[in-house]
Amino acid sequence: MRPSAAMIRQIRRARIFTAAGWILALPSLATVEALEEKAAKEPLWADSALEISDPFEEELRRTCLRISKKLASVTDSDCLDAGLTATGWSSVQGIPLLVREFPPIDGRRPLGRILLIGGIHGDEYSSVSVVFKWLGILRRHHSGLFHWRVVPLVNPDGLLRRRSTRMNGHGVDLNRNFPCPDWHAATSDYWVRRTSRNPRRYPGPDPLSEPESHWLAEEIERFQPDVIVSVHAPYDVLDFDGPPEPPDRLGPLQLKLMGTYPGSLGRYAGVHNSLPVVTIELPSAGSMPSIEARRAIWVDLVRWLRQRLQVPTPKVAR
Ligand SMILES: [Zn+2]
Repeated sequence: MRPSAAMIRQIRRARIFTAAGWILALPSLATVEALEEKAAKEPLWADSALEISDPFEEELRRTCLRISKKLASVTDSDCLDAGLTATGWSSVQGIPLLVREFPPIDGRRPLGRILLIGGIHGDEYSSVSVVFKWLGILRRHHSGLFHWRVVPLVNPDGLLRRRSTRMNGHGVDLNRNFPCPDWHAATSDYWVRRTSRNPRRYPGPDPLSEPESHWLAEEIERFQPDVIVSVHAPYDVLDFDGPPEPPDRLGPLQLKLMGTYPGSLGRYAGVHNSLPVVTIELPSAGSMPSIEARRAIWVDLVRWLRQRLQVPTPKVAR
C-alpha cells in the first residue's frame, strides 16, 4: 500500500517529536560531568558490560595484563593462554590467586601429586617467570604421569605494586607466616634477635594471618601433594626440607641445605609435616636463567620426581 500524503506528514511529525524527545532527554552539562565522574570511579569494564559475561574472565585479563607489564619474560598471552583458574581466594589487595591444574591420565593413579609454586616473595621476578615457562612446557607435553597443580604467583600484591616487595599487601613475609610449634615465641625471637626487626622478614601477627599463606596451607591440606616445589631467587642453590633423599643437583643448581626458619614453608611442610619441599633458588631475582639452564633444571626435576615416586616410600603421619 502506498502511504497517502496525510500519512507521510504524520510520520514526519512523529520523527520530529521523537528527535525533540531525545534532545530533551539529554542530561544537562552538570549531569554529564557527574556521569563522567561516576564512570571514572567504576571499573574499566563497566561501560562494556554487555560484552563481558564472566567477571572472572575480566579479572584474569586485568591480572595477566599487569603481570605481563611487570615481567619482561611473560607476555600477556603466555598468561591468558596458561589456563589459569580461580581458587576463590584473593590477595590482601583483592588480586585473584590463580592456579593451573594438570590432572593425571583418566582412570590412572598418578605417580605423584606435585604442587609447583612461584613468587611467594614478590620481588623475586625470575621465580614467577620461570614457573610460567615450565607451565608452558606442561601445556605442550603433560603426559598425565603426575598430577600437577601450578601456582605461578603466590604473592601478587608484592609483585604488582609499583616497586615490588618481598612482602604481601600487609607487609608480611609470607614465608615466615606458616604455623610451627610455639609460633609466636619462635618467630618473634627470630625476627627480633636474629634480624633486628628487619621489615622484609616480618612474620605477621599470627600464623596464617594472611590470605595468601592461609590459602596455600589449605591447598596443601586439600591436594595432599607428595612433593612441593617452590621457586625463589637469588641464592643460586638447590635447597631441600623434609624426608630424604634430596636430589644432588638440578641442572646447574647444586644441593646446599640452608636450614629452615620459624614460620617458613620449608619448616611447616618439610619438617613438621614430613612432606618433601624442593626449594629452587635461581641465581638472579631480576633476570632469567638461560633457556638451557631452565630446561636442565626442569629435566632433572622430573627425572628425580620419577625416581623418588616410582617406589612409594612409607608415609610418616602428617
Ligand atoms: Zn624468596
